[in-house]
Amino acid sequence: MGDYGAPLFLAWQLTNRCTGRCLHCCEESGPDKGWPDEMDRAQALSLSRQIVDEGVAYVAFGGGEPMSCPWVWDVFETLTKGGVEIKIETNGLDLDDAACDRLQAMKIACVQISVDGRDAATHESLRPGSGYRPAWDALDRLAGRGLEPELVFIPTRLNVADAVPVYQQAAARGVRTFVTGPMMRLGRAARAWDSLACRDEDWAEAVMGLKAAAAALKGPRRACCARRWVPRKLPRW
Ligand code: SF4
Repeated sequence: MGDYGAPLFLAWQLTNRCTGRCLHCCEESGPDKGWPDEMDRAQALSLSRQIVDEGVAYVAFGGGEPMSCPWVWDVFETLTKGGVEIKIETNGLDLDDAACDRLQAMKIACVQISVDGRDAATHESLRPGSGYRPAWDALDRLAGRGLEPELVFIPTRLNVADAVPVYQQAAARGVRTFVTGPMMRLGRAARAWDSLACRDEDWAEAVMGLKAAAAALKGPRRACCARRWVPRKLPRW
C-alpha cells in the first residue's frame, strides 16, 4: 500500500435517481429517490479535478442511473482528459448513437448494462422503468464501436432459468463479459427477498449450465460469476 499515492479505484454515485425502479435494486433507486445532498455541478467537477490531481486510476459510476445526471458528460470529460479510466453501470436508455460516439471518443474502459431475461416481459417485470429492447440496442451500439460492453444478469426466482439463454445471446452479439452472481440482500432486494430470491439449488443448476455453455463456445470472451461480493471468472468462452 505504501507504493501508492492514491486509491486505485473509486466508486461514485452521481445520483440516486433512476428511470428504473428494479425489484432487486440494492440502492433503492428510482425516479423520486434522489438524495437531498447530492453534489451540484460545481462540486462534482471540483471532485473530478481532485481525482485527476491525486492520481486515482479508475472510477466506476453506478446506480442510480449515472447517465441521468445533467453534468455527467462534464465529469467524464474532466476525468478522461486527466488520464482516469472510467466504468459505467447503466440501464442503457440514454446510450443512443451520439452518446456511444462520445464514449468511443473518450475511450471509455468499460460499460455494463443489465439484461435480466430472455424476453422483454421477464426483463421489464423485474426492471420496471427500464427497457429490454433499449438495453440490447445499447449493447449492440457499443459492440459495433469496438467498446466490448459487459452484460450483468441478476438471478431471481422469476428469471434464473434464463441465465443460459441470456448468456448465449450475449456471446452471439459481441458482449465481452457476462457478469452474474447471487442477488445481494440489500435495499429493495432485501425487502422482497422471500418472494424474489431464487433457491440455492436453482442457482447451482444455473451455474452448471453457464459452465457448460462457456465450455461449448469458443472465442476470446469471458464469463464472470460473482459469489456474494467477490467476482470470480468462469472458464473462457
Ligand atoms: S437500473 Fe440500476 S440503479 Fe436503477 S433501479 Fe434498476 S438496479 Fe437500481
